[in-house]
Amino acid sequence: MHTLIRDVRVFDGERTVPRTDVLIAGDLIAEPDGRPVDVEIDGSGRTLMPGLIDAHTHVSDGMLAKALTFGVTTELDMFCLPGNLARQRRLAAERDDVADLRSAGVLATAPSGHPSQIMAAESEALAWLGDAVGPFDTIGDAGRAKEFVEARLAEGIDYLKIVIDDGCTAGLDLPVLSPGVVAALVEAGHAAGLRTIAHVATARDTVLALDAGIDGLAHVFHHSEPGDPPVEDLAARIAAHGVFVITTLTYIETIAQDPAGAELVRDERIAARLSERDRAAIDRDHSAVPVHPDGVAHARRVTAALHEAGVALLAGTDANFFAPVHGAAMHRELLMLTQAGPSPEAALAAATSGPARAFGLADRGRVAPGLRADLLLVDGDPTRDITATRAIAEVWRRGVRRFG
Ligand SMILES: [Zn+2]
Repeated sequence: MHTLIRDVRVFDGERTVPRTDVLIAGDLIAEPDGRPVDVEIDGSGRTLMPGLIDAHTHVSDGMLAKALTFGVTTELDMFCLPGNLARQRRLAAERDDVADLRSAGVLATAPSGHPSQIMAAESEALAWLGDAVGPFDTIGDAGRAKEFVEARLAEGIDYLKIVIDDGCTAGLDLPVLSPGVVAALVEAGHAAGLRTIAHVATARDTVLALDAGIDGLAHVFHHSEPGDPPVEDLAARIAAHGVFVITTLTYIETIAQDPAGAELVRDERIAARLSERDRAAIDRDHSAVPVHPDGVAHARRVTAALHEAGVALLAGTDANFFAPVHGAAMHRELLMLTQAGPSPEAALAAATSGPARAFGLADRGRVAPGLRADLLLVDGDPTRDITATRAIAEVWRRGVRRFG
């Protein structure tokens, strides 16, 4: 199958070409060669870009299909139990009507540490989520780090996620990994060739993660205390370490119960693709973990400082079974990113070429010959008005057209 998209504006993952033709040959992007094609699509007034990569999600049944509906062609899962992971992986390999998947599998946390308290609180979810929730392996001492990583490798993880969070931003006092265990996990992960990503919520824990040699942070920190390094100093340190940061602004907004995020259900371009349940989830401010009331403002300020310092920001939503909603939330994340400082083009890069580079996904994240035909075609120009990503005309996953 050969599809030609004619006269289209292309955001290639890094920069914008005002008008060109793009050929989809089978499951790959190809150079147009003038030969007859099976399908021709008029791209005038539209923008073609790489399929979106959500750099922080939690998958369960039905979520990868939902993500693709909103132009998210790859999800980077940040905590998934083994049975569920094997099932979602099989789905992503066999089908083209779902987003592709990479996963951290079972995250490393202390016994009864975050997010055990959420899983315990979500009793209603237990029935719906099946094997996506339940008991999981934890780690108490540094001597077990190598064994822990080996067990995860056997389950097929792509990178290692490490939780450093005592729940203080939610007024809790949860067991937390010691600096020694964190350092041992990072070392064991690196020895196994894995990237290491830390879940942190505070400036203090961000420092701990940097000291351990972490590769990336799963959230912008959204809480500082007197005595913590100034935000700008910490941003400079993150930049100097070459550490990437997944923003998850829409998640922080959700758990802070900030009603601004409900604009998504008032935007017909998004609402038309949402189920009744998802609409309610976005409007309801579901959360078992309230954060510091200044969380969203602080997170925006931190994001701005990280951007100024030149840190690689990756767009991620922390989409889960409730809210943020898979796929839909990416469009809110992109808007929130631009409100924090990055240009629309920089925000789009943070959702395409940025995560592909940070996670070593060399086959996607850009529009270029030879890469996977994971593509999103929208009406209008999101390099000027970021909300144009919501005007989805077509999605291709591995060359397969989703809506046409
Ligand atoms: Zn998460």
